[in-house]
Amino acid sequence: CGIVGYIGFRRADEVIIKALKRLEYRGYDSWGIAIKDNGGVLVHKKTGAIGKVEKFSLSNGRMAIGHTRWATHGEPNDVNAHPHTDCSEAIAVVHNGIITNFQELKEVLTAKNHVFKSETDTEVLAHLIEEFYDGDLKEAVEKALSAVKGSYAIAVIHANEDKIVVARNKSPLILGVGDDELFVASDTPAILDYTNRVIFLEDGEIAELEKEVKVFRNGKPVDKEAEIIPWSIE
Ligand code: GLU
Repeated sequence: CGIVGYIGFRRADEVIIKALKRLEYRGYDSWGIAIKDNGGVLVHKKTGAIGKVEKFSLSNGRMAIGHTRWATHGEPNDVNAHPHTDCSEAIAVVHNGIITNFQELKEVLTAKNHVFKSETDTEVLAHLIEEFYDGDLKEAVEKALSAVKGSYAIAVIHANEDKIVVARNKSPLILGVGDDELFVASDTPAILDYTNRVIFLEDGEIAELEKEVKVFRNGKPVDKEAEIIPWSIE
């Protein structure tokens, strides 16, 4: 029930674990991380509380997404934990919310030879994005979301792209803007260790986090300013 993402100059695994711990109040039956590493995407996910994790080191990659789960579809276990991947394992998705039409999407995708690993509603997103991917992750996410009903805050990475694509509809999502680094999170406490410049994403908006933040609505760029929020972490 908490999502985070990081792209910048730090070790992304360290940032993600720290940020997830700040979000643990949102849900905690399992957790996971996907990190871009040597041109591939490495995934590590586990049942249990992120608070119990002390030393963690996965890769020295600089871009990653993470999740703490509060299960709605599929029992809490390692396979159902996020991130979820497509068949090629090039795409990783974290999701907060509920995809209400996942069952019918799963049937359509299964008929197109997609093999599902988990019982979650979320996994359809990874396969849908794979289905639409044609070299542009933002476009593929846009197309996938137009087929989806329900609530979502998502963050997505692809092995061939140095960017995080995020979107929201009826689930919270904020973006953090640092110097040469960008963050995404369900809530501000996750990123206040690093920056207090925040962009509030709204329902229907989709954003690309690369060197800078680009926000779109209905395929058109939207101008959004970062707001300075007071430091409030103990
Ligand atoms: N519906 C998704 C699941 O059960 C996401 C749950 C969440 O928001 O943590 O996996």
